[in-house]
Amino acid sequence: MTDLSNLDRAEVETFLAGLGVPRFHGRQIFHWIYRRGVTDFAAMTDLPRALRERLAAACTLTTPRLETRQTSTDGTTKFLLRLEDHRHIEAVYIPDTPAQTFCISTQVGCAMACTFCLTGKMGLTRHLTAGEIAGQVRVLAHATGLAGQPFNVVLMGMGEPLHNYDATMKALRMLADEQGLALSPRHVTLSTVGVLPGLERLAQEPLMPNLAISLHATTDAQRDALVPVNRKYRLDDLMAACRKFPVRKRARITFEYVLLDGVNDTPEDARRLVKLLNGMKAKVNLLPLNEAPGIPFTRPSDERVNAFAQILASRDVLVSVRKSRGRDIRAACGQLIVESERRAAGQRLAAALP
Ligand code: SAH
Repeated sequence: MTDLSNLDRAEVETFLAGLGVPRFHGRQIFHWIYRRGVTDFAAMTDLPRALRERLAAACTLTTPRLETRQTSTDGTTKFLLRLEDHRHIEAVYIPDTPAQTFCISTQVGCAMACTFCLTGKMGLTRHLTAGEIAGQVRVLAHATGLAGQPFNVVLMGMGEPLHNYDATMKALRMLADEQGLALSPRHVTLSTVGVLPGLERLAQEPLMPNLAISLHATTDAQRDALVPVNRKYRLDDLMAACRKFPVRKRARITFEYVLLDGVNDTPEDARRLVKLLNGMKAKVNLLPLNEAPGIPFTRPSDERVNAFAQILASRDVLVSVRKSRGRDIRAACGQLIVESERRAAGQRLAAALP
């Protein structure tokens, strides 16, 4: 059986050609799958009946199963999705920011182990396939009625997209297809801790999403403690890669900076951040910590957050403070974790923390 959910349109067409079927049916199939949200070949009524039957016999169309959805008081909706192997991932719909945004996952769990992130405590269970990554957008677009309307996608759910590079980029190509959801990479933001080989590959891509860097610290010592991958890819090298990164006209790299009370939120940190970003097309998105049991940090007061933001703004660094959405349903940044998943070592450790 061939799983069509994992194929881009060129591959679907090649597959059809192999069956001796005209390639143009690939366009129709893509339309049904992505734009119409149809997963049953029998329902693809503009295909010849014989083709529908052959597809049903030779293909599957794996689609994440919507298991539960929870809506926050602010309208943010978290979706629990079940994959074919019964593992779970989460994806989030964040309405009216003013855009409509889907936040999707690229892995089950995450290997990066950032010390303030709940997903990081899970460890990595496995990579998602391109079909599973794109499938989240298919499912959410149809569950929210937004297929055919403009929406943004942020790769800010579970997982590190550049640690699952090929599947992530293939999913973006599948989602960009004009016959499908036609999601332009300009409406996609890829967020990364800075896996440098991935960042260098990304700089060469013809389909270029917006880039967000999870920076969180301004010295190697500090970043080593918060974002362990920094021990491998040092801050200077990360900043050098960002300076070289081909940013579109009028676009900027977003630097995400989680604020941890008394750890990385002092005026000195803010001034070092200004220096690091000197001369770059950058903007800073401050994320006051979303606290959770097992996370050994606290959220700074609004005064401290504002003071930090003020220092950046007064030195002409564009800065915004992320208003966390969906905190009441644990849908906010760093809070995606699947409790029923078999617990990885890191997670057991996290559970043992006071
Ligand atoms: N692995 C990628 C994609 C995840 S994006 C990355 O790290 O960029 C999720 C964002 O939420 C990251 O910037 C992450 O650092 C941030 N985050 C994680 N835990 C958080 C928490 N407890 N509070 C606020 N932000 C958090």
